[in-house]
Amino acid sequence: MSELRNGKVRDPESLRGRQVAAATARQIEISQSLSEFDWIPRPRLLALRRLGIETAEDLLTHFPRRHEDRYQFPHFPREESDVPICLCGDVVKTSMRRFGGWKKIFEATLEESSPNALSEPLVCRWFNLHYVQKMIATGQRMVVFGKPRLRGKRICVDHPEFEVIENDEEISIHFRRITPIYPATEGLSQRALRSIIYRLLNEISDEPLDTLVPSGLVHGERYDAIRAIHFPESWEARDAAREHLVLSEFFAMQMLIASRRSDASIRVGRAHCGAGVLLDKFLSALPFELTGAQSKVIAELRRDLAAPHPMNRLLQGDVGSGKTVVAITAMLLAVEAGYQAAFMAPTQILAEQHYAVLGRWLEPLGVRMALRTAARQEESGPLPLFERGEMNLGSTGCQPVVSGSLPDTSADADKQGYRRRNLPHFERPWAKYAITFTTRSHRQLSTEARDIVLESLLRWKDRRYELYGACVMPDHVHFLIEPMIERDGDCGNPIFFPVSKILHSIKSFTANRINKIENSNEPVWETESFDRLIRSESDLQEKFNYISRNPWDAGVVGSDQDYQWLWYPGRYKAQEFAASCREQQAGSLCSPDRVLPPREPQIIVGTHALLYENVSFSNLGLVVIDEQHKFGVAQRARLTAREPAPDVLVMTATPIPRTLTMTIYGDLDASIIDEMPRNRGKIVTAVRDQSKLGEVLSFLRTQLEAGRQLYVIYPLIDESEKLDVKAASAEYELWRERLHPYRCELLHGRIPAAEKQEIMERFRRGKTTALISTTVIEVGIDVPNASVMLVENSERFGLAQLHQLRGRIGRGEHKSYCIFLTSDHSKETSAKLTVLEKTSNGFEVAEADWDLRGPGDLLGTAQSGLPALKIGNLKSDAGLMRRARAAAMSIFGADPRLELPENQRFRRLVVEQQGRTFSNVS
Ligand code: ADP
Ligand code: MG
Repeated sequence: MSELRNGKVRDPESLRGRQVAAATARQIEISQSLSEFDWIPRPRLLALRRLGIETAEDLLTHFPRRHEDRYQFPHFPREESDVPICLCGDVVKTSMRRFGGWKKIFEATLEESSPNALSEPLVCRWFNLHYVQKMIATGQRMVVFGKPRLRGKRICVDHPEFEVIENDEEISIHFRRITPIYPATEGLSQRALRSIIYRLLNEISDEPLDTLVPSGLVHGERYDAIRAIHFPESWEARDAAREHLVLSEFFAMQMLIASRRSDASIRVGRAHCGAGVLLDKFLSALPFELTGAQSKVIAELRRDLAAPHPMNRLLQGDVGSGKTVVAITAMLLAVEAGYQAAFMAPTQILAEQHYAVLGRWLEPLGVRMALRTAARQEESGPLPLFERGEMNLGSTGCQPVVSGSLPDTSADADKQGYRRRNLPHFERPWAKYAITFTTRSHRQLSTEARDIVLESLLRWKDRRYELYGACVMPDHVHFLIEPMIERDGDCGNPIFFPVSKILHSIKSFTANRINKIENSNEPVWETESFDRLIRSESDLQEKFNYISRNPWDAGVVGSDQDYQWLWYPGRYKAQEFAASCREQQAGSLCSPDRVLPPREPQIIVGTHALLYENVSFSNLGLVVIDEQHKFGVAQRARLTAREPAPDVLVMTATPIPRTLTMTIYGDLDASIIDEMPRNRGKIVTAVRDQSKLGEVLSFLRTQLEAGRQLYVIYPLIDESEKLDVKAASAEYELWRERLHPYRCELLHGRIPAAEKQEIMERFRRGKTTALISTTVIEVGIDVPNASVMLVENSERFGLAQLHQLRGRIGRGEHKSYCIFLTSDHSKETSAKLTVLEKTSNGFEVAEADWDLRGPGDLLGTAQSGLPALKIGNLKSDAGLMRRARAAAMSIFGADPRLELPENQRFRRLVVEQQGRTFSNVS
């Protein structure tokens, strides 16, 4: 370090000083394209472009990830540290070692430049990163950043961030200052990026940039803040600059949110609220009292329904807190006022469940109901498939839909193939596909490998697609899916998960895992795959039969044997599934108002297909959307764009931290049910070490003796890579012995649905005492007498999921017990499990979850159609978000349409962002 410290280096000039010097040079405008600057070499331009950086402004707002204090480096550590530190030293040795066969460790040993008697060398290590070896050589000087750890007698830093010091570069930019560290990019070193930004800052015109922030909110000029965030003169200056930029960013975001909110409130709506006779009838028939929270929310909904402007409300509440009852009350008020209400669920299965539940409550009141999903139209009976000609399969609003399947026979393909290809698969709404992919060179999948593949197919089920059937053969895989909506495209069309993306995830995920257990690195899958759009009933029937008979037809198993890697949901037996495969009709939700004819359904339950299908809503007044996180903002906008707009109630059982609510759901009014029904017993939660299983067992027995029932949960099959987790089926035998003479049953995702239902039914009726289960019980089980839950390997689950699981108990009047077993003693695990011991409130769990997972998790900002954040952190900057929100709200409060002259600049800000929001969502 000596020559750096001893001033051989030019003193860094202040940027402002340089600015004056450069004033005569050509001035750069902020909107200029970087390709106009001849001093940026082409390869670097390309690397920047990969980051989405095209203009001077893009580059200047490519903010540092952190800064290093390179005025002075500390001495090398002699102990471990939990905080990463920044060190500088000379490379005195490098070496490459092998371990575990083909894996490699590269080590570089550093010594302090001016060592003293107590100095210890520092070993930097990189595992399996071949390129690092090419970058580091003995004799170089390096700056490294990482956490020192004691390994044997050596102090090591594993995978440090590093920068090799090259003497020929301008050291004043990189040293003797608070130095910016940028998000890493391939093909662009920190030094290169830093130099380009430094030069750009010096050459840029210092005409004040447009300030798009009210002056009361931030201090100083944006221009100065941008300079200071890259090359701050002090830590205070850095912090002030950051605050300025974060506030600007948040303000822009909140303006967008406030504009959506304002748009909604000035839109023409109607009052959709009856007098409440029907509601009173419903309430008096309820076998329980409403909780205070439920009554409060019902009052809020009633007020909104009665108001002439459209309701836009979010209802959050834990599973079991009674949201459905609340939604029913709102629907009854709308029905009584002569309107229709729609209840939308994210999947067909959930829609059918809701339909059954609602029917039980509402049919006694004489309310006419209908189920409308892509698959079924209960009331009018299943429609004949493909009754209309193919040419009619056409468009839903702005979607170009071309009829026909993918070319599957060559003769056909000649005639129509290319035209068919014009439509990207994923824009075809609610399409179903039969997909096949094969292993490379007939590689045989072991039974474990087949497990992995089937698990992974189930892993994305209901997240990326609905799965109708799957069969994992020893050297190929078939499955039948309907891709779900990934996001909203321009003008609000839904974009479905592309088959290619779905396949890619499955292939790469499974290939990795299979190779890991088989200790191989050969390719597992053939690159090509076959997907076929299913469009006719016979087509489908044939495909389904083929898949479900494949193992037997191919002679992989004997005719009297079961094939374990065949999956299909029982309710979609071939016949029924075929009946469900009906092409969508044209049209949209919006049809002109008219008086409800006497036989029209009053409440329509369905999937999101309701939005796109020509479902006969003659007089839609209220839409309830369950599970908001699967339903994007633009889809909601599609509903509310209608004039007069229906009231919208969005419900979610996944509570999110309050600070996030004001952003992600900032355009909605929020209601919360934060109270469980009174008839629920208390839940006691305890974390126990695996070694205490004996004691836990004797406790469980006392509960069973008292007549209670038990869930034992394993982290398996659907959600995890089971390899080092005990397999539920193996454990099942153990549990039968442990709980003898009580009756146990095994439940997991691969059991056909019909059988699953029988197992659950036996449990519900108390015929079975204990259910040994995977997380399949997360949804849809309500057994009040089951008041004890034991979760094995609980470290494997996320906080939110553990909380959801625990929601299965505490449903009756008995005191309930939830025991989390673990053998993991890490800090992370114990922090996580302690949260659950302390609270059973979903909001507190959500806050803690967010804390533990740390920043950077945007929790669905993508779905909310908000721009990605460049500098602000939703969590640690929550206070700034509050200020930005208040500023935005007050502008819209005074001028809801942004008509005042002084607000024109904000109007531009909003419009610009609207253009961008959906394009940077990936
Ligand atoms: P959520 O949709 O919030 O998960 P549900 O509305 O499905 O919850 O309610 C869960 C269960 O609790 C249902 O069986 C429902 O009938 C019952 N329930 C709802 N509200 C109350 C209440 N106030 N008191 C007792 N039971 C209730
Ligand atoms: Mg519910």
